[in-house]
Amino acid sequence: GGSKVMKFGKSKAKLVSKESPQVTFADVAGADEAIEELEEIKDFLKEPAKFQAVGARIPKGVLLYGPPGTGKTLLARAVAGEANVPFYAISGSDFVEMFVGVGASRVRDLFSQAKENAPAIIFIDEIDAVGRHRGAGMGGGHDEREQTLNQLLVEMDGFDVKANVILIAATNRPDILDPALLRPGRFDRQIGVDAPDMLGRKRILEVHSKGKPMAEGVDLEVLARKTPGFTGADLANVLNEAALLTARSNAQLIDNRALDEAVDRVMAGPQRRTRVMRDKEKLITAYHEGGHALVATAMNFTDPVTKITILPRGRALGYTMVMPLEDRYSVTRNELLDQLAYAMGGRVAEEIIFHDPTSGASNDIEKATATARKMVTEFGMSSVVGPLKLGQGSGEVFLGRDMGHQRDYSERVAESVDREVRQLLEDAHDEAYEVLIKNRVILDELATALLEHETLDQTALAEIFANVEQLPARPQWL
Ligand code: ADP
Repeated sequence: GGSKVMKFGKSKAKLVSKESPQVTFADVAGADEAIEELEEIKDFLKEPAKFQAVGARIPKGVLLYGPPGTGKTLLARAVAGEANVPFYAISGSDFVEMFVGVGASRVRDLFSQAKENAPAIIFIDEIDAVGRHRGAGMGGGHDEREQTLNQLLVEMDGFDVKANVILIAATNRPDILDPALLRPGRFDRQIGVDAPDMLGRKRILEVHSKGKPMAEGVDLEVLARKTPGFTGADLANVLNEAALLTARSNAQLIDNRALDEAVDRVMAGPQRRTRVMRDKEKLITAYHEGGHALVATAMNFTDPVTKITILPRGRALGYTMVMPLEDRYSVTRNELLDQLAYAMGGRVAEEIIFHDPTSGASNDIEKATATARKMVTEFGMSSVVGPLKLGQGSGEVFLGRDMGHQRDYSERVAESVDREVRQLLEDAHDEAYEVLIKNRVILDELATALLEHETLDQTALAEIFANVEQLPARPQWL
């Protein structure tokens, strides 16, 4: 028959045969960073001998993580298509549905088939269904699932690079995966795949509008602007719905009316409704993220902001990226005070603009409080409390008791710690307030640019921030 996908052997895995139409990287739009990382895998699968000859260590497993419909499966198929190798696909939930004792044997079966036909790719969608943290959840583990997971780990550890089989797994819940899966030699390469930004959406629309005749006046860029938060799958759906509407009304060209109606339909679809950002929420997020970035920029001891976005990312509504301080050995007091101030920047912007702050700053407040507490109890940065380490442990949980709360100092010291922490946070709040009031015009400009472009990179930011008024130097400490 004309089936492109056939059932293969005993395993439920589907083999996409070499004869079926190949997906290539050109079919995946707006995911350039992920593609760049996958190029290396493609090169290896194409010419494994070249890599083995020089002893290069190639990853066995690649984890693609991100929201549903962002093209993770498509990317995995594209790697197979580019390298022209067989692609075995199975879903984690298929393993779990199986009868007792079957899951583990299916895993064995799958691996032996892939090895026979190597070089090859095994793709496991929804790996979280088998790979969630062992022993997680109520009432202990799920035996069948754990056996399947264990078998998967055994197989991964058991084949060496010469097997020329690469595993690609996908999940939208990387947070619940068993850490054993992510260890070196397993899924040690992790690639995030996010919902596309405006340019990405335009490129995806271009890919999926091939073979769909558009009426004059249709502008895919305008359509991309109207669809913030849509994934690649949503956009493909929009174009397909529009084509259906057009055919049903016996028209030959897809026009703006059909496209608008298709957007509404897809937006109203069950899985979409929650993900579309409402206008008000978008405005608040633009000011919130703008507040962080502007305060960070006005600080004297903070690295430049490299990127801001108001697109939802994981559980956050948006994010602001400051060059990480991570690989430094120590931080100064002024750098930490700067961090506190820009952590407060989002919340303060909401106060200034809307006078009715949202709960969106809870994570910022949590992080700032933890930093301020460390400054007082670990870094000796409060002259009132003095240079001592207070409290034992770092909040380790032992037998369900939070040891971090076990105090080794007096009630009086505890009170002064609390007062000092509070003072640091209030000062940070005031600094952020001062910056945002002084630079209010730039804050508005920034929010407007974010609403229009959704994501701003370092170059765009440099232009907007050209005239930022810096925070005056803090009085010298001690
Ligand atoms: P995921 O595996 O992340 O849930 P899929 O790869 O299954 O998403 O995407 C479903 C469909 O949506 C794809 O087959 C493709 O038609 C479309 N799609 C998703 N992302 C993209 C993209 N970046 N470029 C082009 N099409 C995409």
